[in-house]
Amino acid sequence: MNAEIIAVGSELLLGQIVNSNAKFLSQQLAGLGIDVYFHSVVGDNPNRLKSVIEIAEQRSAIIIFTGGLGPTKDDLTKETIANHLGVNLVIDEEALAGIERFYKRTNRVMTENNRKQALILEGSHVLPNENGMAPGMILDKAGHIYILLPGPPKEMEPMFLHFGTKTLLNMVSSNQQIFSRVLRFFGVGESALETEIIDLIDAQSNPTIAPLAGDGEVTLRLTAKHKDKSTALSMLDQVEEKINKRVGQFLYGYDNTSLLEELTKLLKEKNLTITAAESLTGGLFQQEITSIPGVSSIFKGGIVCYAQEIKQQIVQVKQETLAKYGVVSEQCARELAENVARIFATDIGISFTGVAGPTELEGKPVGTIYIGIAIKGRPTIVEKIVLGGSREANRIRTVKYGCYFLIKQLQTSQDVE
Ligand code: ATP
Repeated sequence: MNAEIIAVGSELLLGQIVNSNAKFLSQQLAGLGIDVYFHSVVGDNPNRLKSVIEIAEQRSAIIIFTGGLGPTKDDLTKETIANHLGVNLVIDEEALAGIERFYKRTNRVMTENNRKQALILEGSHVLPNENGMAPGMILDKAGHIYILLPGPPKEMEPMFLHFGTKTLLNMVSSNQQIFSRVLRFFGVGESALETEIIDLIDAQSNPTIAPLAGDGEVTLRLTAKHKDKSTALSMLDQVEEKINKRVGQFLYGYDNTSLLEELTKLLKEKNLTITAAESLTGGLFQQEITSIPGVSSIFKGGIVCYAQEIKQQIVQVKQETLAKYGVVSEQCARELAENVARIFATDIGISFTGVAGPTELEGKPVGTIYIGIAIKGRPTIVEKIVLGGSREANRIRTVKYGCYFLIKQLQTSQDVE
């Protein structure tokens, strides 16, 4: 199955906006194992849109449109496709009721052209719009699947994720079922990970392996097709095992999780409490951990020890340590982690000290960071990382690294005494 994405909108051609919808959809389709061979952009002009559709039909099984579903005169994607396919446009009562409710709620008068937004291609499957008025739709007609999505990314992205993918997969797989699993990696770059498993990626067919990168993380989406669920799942297990043999040390979780969620899950499972002493991260770790609901049983509080005297007086880092090694040092990170755990009487203390930038500190270059992890009953470990980003990016990545190192520590079988 191959797909083509057609973005409709003159503002794209005028260079007023970037075609980020195509980027998003291509990434999603790659993850589903659907090849995207073409992107097109066309203005709000029915004749030119029609000619792009005709070309797409000659080369692509799935044709995805974004934009032009609005109420105004230049929004003509639906009308052009209906006309081209000889399909009627009919009112979708549910979408119309939603639009009417919106106007009532906001005390505004609905005009006739707002009704137009509730029109769908007859016979199509409606994709609800959670963040706007125009519904999307999927139509399976004459050997092609046409998917119409709204232009605004905040409407289009949740629509595709929450409703589009499932309907599309059901259509393309007829008697086969599709099962996906996302593997999440941290601490390894996309190209390094890809190089390790390139032969598996090249040889893939079923299951497919699709790498995606973002936010300093790498994810692999494995997608297996089979009519039988247990066979599909065991196909996924087999390919995952092969991948993990090579890069399993960087795997931290599955599907829609995050480093922080995995960490809090582990802490709860193991019934462990944690605190933090944060220098360069200025409380970011504590802010992030408290953004997860229900952490009061594991997170006690912590200290932002930005200035040297706070490290010394409040977190009790020894004067000799600071004089001999400086604040950006393994020794300082070690004492911060051990002392803060003692002060807060927690099972774990984590510390962050380093040079976020933009200027160097104590002769140590920007991006030099030490993360201390003191776990009760185990030798304290200190990890050094060297980051190359901006001040803000370095602080964010430092917190992620802290979570990652701690997850890896907690995943080892040794029990905390
Ligand atoms: P609306 O009901 O808001 O008119 P629509 O489906 O008719 O939605 P358009 O009018 O084509 O969509 O575009 C609305 C807005 O959506 C654009 O001004 C732009 O901000 C955004 N948008 C449209 N197409 C894209 C695209 N391909 N990539 C990123 N953003 C887009």
